[in-house]
Amino acid sequence: MCRHRVFCPGIAPPGVGNRVTPKRFCRLTRPLAASLLTMMILAASVLASGHVLAADSAITGLRIGGVEIDGQRALRVVVETDRPVPAKLTLLADPYRFVVDIPNADWRVADVPKSGNLGAAPATAYRYGRLDAQTGRVVIEMAAPAAPVRRFALPAGDGRGHRLVFDLADKGQTAFQVAAKTLAREGLRGYGDTASPASQQAGTPQTGQPATADSKVSSASPAPPPSRKKWTVFIDAGHGGKDPGAIGKSKTQEKHITLAAATELARQLKATGVINPVLSRSDDRYLKLRQRINLARRQQADIFISLHADAAPSSKARGISVFTLSDTASDKEAEMLARNENRADLIGGPDLAVEDPEAADELLRMFQRESMNQSTYLASTILRHIRDMPGGDKRGHRFAGFAVLKAPDMPSVLVEMGFITNRQDEANLKTAEYRTKLTERLSRAIVAYLVEYGPQE
Ligand SMILES: [Zn+2]
Repeated sequence: MCRHRVFCPGIAPPGVGNRVTPKRFCRLTRPLAASLLTMMILAASVLASGHVLAADSAITGLRIGGVEIDGQRALRVVVETDRPVPAKLTLLADPYRFVVDIPNADWRVADVPKSGNLGAAPATAYRYGRLDAQTGRVVIEMAAPAAPVRRFALPAGDGRGHRLVFDLADKGQTAFQVAAKTLAREGLRGYGDTASPASQQAGTPQTGQPATADSKVSSASPAPPPSRKKWTVFIDAGHGGKDPGAIGKSKTQEKHITLAAATELARQLKATGVINPVLSRSDDRYLKLRQRINLARRQQADIFISLHADAAPSSKARGISVFTLSDTASDKEAEMLARNENRADLIGGPDLAVEDPEAADELLRMFQRESMNQSTYLASTILRHIRDMPGGDKRGHRFAGFAVLKAPDMPSVLVEMGFITNRQDEANLKTAEYRTKLTERLSRAIVAYLVEYGPQE
């Protein structure tokens, strides 16, 4: 026997009262978020035991709703199957789509059509089809660039099939592109059942909601199309407040140089008309490194550039360096970050470690590796543009484990604009003219990079 349930708090099925708007959906969802409980928008479950056919696997339910991760609303997609299955995930743009391919998976969600509209923002529609004879494909269309930040499997039980659970959050275009590339390389992947108490709870839908048998799912409020947005560039003026940074031969404090250069770079980027510059600080204040990353992530910055002035024991050292996170440092440091720092801070909710520590570590490393590649492109674009500056071709691209370069989903570079401990460099850095020349080149390099590699809409 099959039993079908469709919970539609965010959808107004034709002819059914009890219409609930998305606003109400949010209000309903938030209090439940503590238990990671999702209010399922579209729910269809099948007690599939008894009539599983032959060797093909089957999709027996699809549920889409909201969860809250780290204070941010995320989309939860639950694909229910009659047996544990591997899946390949894909992210596509124009329109944004989250695709789950499952080998030989038929659609066996009776009473629920193979396609329909959704009102669970950012999801706008879903459909099932056969990609080829061997592959069943579920596509979720979205109005925003949401990418998976968490994924795990749950075993069958409680009248439900095996469940693949994906939580997607909109962390900006860059994060979407990075995740898309990462997933493209990943291929088909098995999901062991993770039966921790937290994830068990997460996979169990609320059953106290109004259930309506609904064959035609319609959207209560179609999401607006994504609007053309400017690229966001986060400019981090190094040091500040109680932390003066390096001190020059003539007592110049690095923190003042970095603020002046950052302010000028912001002015020039804004003047391009295609970039929304955001400064980590616009006055002489102290910020922790982690705060700088968090500020950039909150702005969903497309790139992160940190400005500094170098110091060396030898007063002869001079020139400009562009740093990215070092390859060798990254894995070890990602591991340490994951262990010692707040991992949730980097890729998702505070319950990540409880739910799926392996996936959390793996995702962190994947994102970091991909944004490191992007950071390298950005660094070499900058270096091409500063060759004519004094010492601009001297030091080149360098690698280090700077904490500000560790945002896993943002191409990040740190520019040492010259040696404050070198008399000529120091004299240059103190003049607005030199800083303007240098930031002009940085600005051109940033635009060139974004045009070539940045998110396009
Ligand atoms: Zn510095």
